[in-house]
Amino acid sequence: MVRDDRGAVLSRAEKAVIGEIWTSKRAYENLVYLCDQIGNRWAGSESEHRAAQFLQTKAVEYGLQDVAIQTFPLTGWRRGPTRLEVVAPVARDVAAIALPYTPAARLEGEAIWVGQGEAEDFERLAGQIAGKIVLSAAESTPGPGQHSSHRREKFARAVAAGAVAFLFVNQNPGALAITGALAAGFTAEIPGLGLPKESGDFIVRLLDAGPVRLRLQMSAEHFPTTSANVLGRIGPSDANEFVMTGAHYDAHDIAVGALDNAAGAVVVLEAARALATVADVLPISIRMALFGCEEIGLLGAWYHAGQARSELERCRFVLNVDSPIGSVPGSENLRLCGFPDLVPFFEDLAQQMCYDLPVQNRLNAYSDHFPYAIAGVPNGMLSSSNAGTGLIGRGWGHTPADTVDKVSPKSLQTAATAVARLMLRLALADNWPGQHRSRQEMAAEVAASPIGWYVEQFGRYPFQPAEGS
Ligand SMILES: [Zn+2]
Repeated sequence: MVRDDRGAVLSRAEKAVIGEIWTSKRAYENLVYLCDQIGNRWAGSESEHRAAQFLQTKAVEYGLQDVAIQTFPLTGWRRGPTRLEVVAPVARDVAAIALPYTPAARLEGEAIWVGQGEAEDFERLAGQIAGKIVLSAAESTPGPGQHSSHRREKFARAVAAGAVAFLFVNQNPGALAITGALAAGFTAEIPGLGLPKESGDFIVRLLDAGPVRLRLQMSAEHFPTTSANVLGRIGPSDANEFVMTGAHYDAHDIAVGALDNAAGAVVVLEAARALATVADVLPISIRMALFGCEEIGLLGAWYHAGQARSELERCRFVLNVDSPIGSVPGSENLRLCGFPDLVPFFEDLAQQMCYDLPVQNRLNAYSDHFPYAIAGVPNGMLSSSNAGTGLIGRGWGHTPADTVDKVSPKSLQTAATAVARLMLRLALADNWPGQHRSRQEMAAEVAASPIGWYVEQFGRYPFQPAEGS
C-alpha cells in the first residue's frame, strides 16, 4: 500500500473511532457495573471470576475475535481479624489492616521509625532494626530524578535488617489505611500491616518521646485458587505482526479499585470496541489482554507473557493501561520501559494526533508491561498523575476511597480515545522503528537500575512469583 493511501485510511478510521467513543457511555457503565455490582475483584476471588466473565461477554458483544478466558492457578490469600495495640508508654488500640500475603502472627516488639524507608534510611539505622517492628512511610517523596522505592523494596530492606514486622503508613490524611501486597502470591517472610496516616503519626509522636512497645495479632488464610486473563483480537488472524494493549481488572480486597484499575480495564475494552468497528482496515492485528492478579505481583501478565513467549517476537508494542484517570480529563502520560530510542517516535505521534501526551522512558517493574519489557518487547504504560490534587503517591489508590465517584465519564472517554488512536497508529504505521532487545540486555539494564540489588539478593524481580509457587 502506498503511503498516501494509508494516510487516508488512517484519517477515516481514526475519525470513526473517536466518534464511536465520544458518543458512547459504555465505558462508564462498565466501570459502574464492575465496581458497584461485582465489587472488589480481589485476586482469585469469586468477585474476580465474575469480572472476568463479564469482560469476556462484553468483548464478544463488541465484536472481538478469539475471545478467551486464560485461567491460571495461584495461592489465594484471605484476611482474618487484625489488631494492633500500643502497649507502652500508653495503652491504645491503633487502626490498621493486614497487608495481603502476610503470615498470621501474634507478637510484641519495640517500634522503630525508618522515615521513607529508602536505602539511606536503613543504612543510617543499621544495627538498630533487628528484632523491632519497622514503621515506614508508604510513599516516598523523592527529589527530582531520585529513586522512589516501592513497598516491596522497603519491605525487603526491613526483612534483611532483621525486623519482626513491617508497618506501612499512608501519607495522605483521612483515616484511610493503605494496602499493597507483601509478596507475589506466596507467604511473606514477616507480617505486615497498613496504617492510616493518623495512626502512624500517633506512633511517631510517641517515639519522639521515648521507646514505644506494640502488640499485633492477626490471622490470615492461604489457599489454592485460580485467576484468569481475558483475551481477544481485532483484525487479521494471519498477519505476521501484532500490537497489544492490556490492563489489569483486579483490585484490592479493601476497595472497589475504580481508579486502579477498573478504569484501565474499561478504557482498554472501550478502545477495543471502537477499533473493532474499523477492523477491516487493519494490516496487522490488535490484541487485547485484561489481566487478573496484577495487585499481588503481576501474576496474570507473567502467565500470559510466559504462554505467549514464542509469539512475542512478532509483537510490535505492548501498551499497558494502569490508573489512566487523573485529576482532570486528558492528563494521561506515556512511560516507556527500557526503550528510550522510541521517545521521539511517540512524541511525534502525539503531535500528529494533536494531543498533548508527555512521553518519557523510565524503568518500572510494578505493572503489567514489565514481563514483556524483560522479554525485550517494546512497551509502555499509559497512566495519569495526581498532580494538582495535593495527594501524595497513589492518592486514593490502594485505599477504601478508590471509588466510582473519583472517575468521570469524560475522563474515561479521553483515555479510551488516546489508547484507541495510539493502537490504530501503531497498527497502521509503515515506518515503525521499534527494535526488540535481547533478554540479556534487559536483565543487564535492570541489574544496573535501583532495583538491581533486589534481583541480586533474591534471584527474582520484586513483583515476580517465586519458582514453583
Ligand atoms: Zn494498578
